[in-house]
Amino acid sequence: MLASDFGNLKDEISMVNNSKADWFHIDVMDGVFVPNISFGTPIMNVLKKCAKKPLDVHLMIVNPDNYIEKFAELGSSVLTVHAEACTHLHRTVQKIKSLKIKAGVAINPHTPISSLESIVNEIDLVCIMSVNPGFGGQSFIENTYQKIEDLKSLIDKKNSKAIIEIDGGVTSKNAKKLVDKGADVLVAGSFVFKSDNPTETISTLSNLIN
Ligand code: ZN
Repeated sequence: MLASDFGNLKDEISMVNNSKADWFHIDVMDGVFVPNISFGTPIMNVLKKCAKKPLDVHLMIVNPDNYIEKFAELGSSVLTVHAEACTHLHRTVQKIKSLKIKAGVAINPHTPISSLESIVNEIDLVCIMSVNPGFGGQSFIENTYQKIEDLKSLIDKKNSKAIIEIDGGVTSKNAKKLVDKGADVLVAGSFVFKSDNPTETISTLSNLIN
């Protein structure tokens, strides 16, 4: 939703409701963890009211522990925190799970998959950032394919049930390859919302990977 037109938020939400998209992906940025500020609870309130699909909330903020309960109340189905932002990641993940929502961990492009070794069995989703977080519309980092392979091996080795989400620079050019490598969830922002026909773009992406 970061790439949507906030001036027409209700229409943008309806478009997603009536499209082949499975989830809403919501990027919350604090201007500290990432060099940009996106939006906070007022926009989440509108999403909670109008969205008819699960809310996949990606907290790109420092001290996410302080906001977990709030975002759970605001209807998050999946709540993802950044490994780099959590000193006590295991505790943060347990806190999310205690609120009966799915727990995700996101990693920035420079963070190796091996850093997830001790947490991958505790979580429902790993979000691999395929751009440096902070802004929409950036180009895809090619090393992501290797990271998906590494994560897939780690998940298999550990018998984890975590699914793999790719966030950043997803287009019709890389969607199929990402899924072939093992991605379960693709986040598309600018590619959808800046296209001439977002509903059709979502269909195209969906047809490529299903
Ligand atoms: Zn995101």
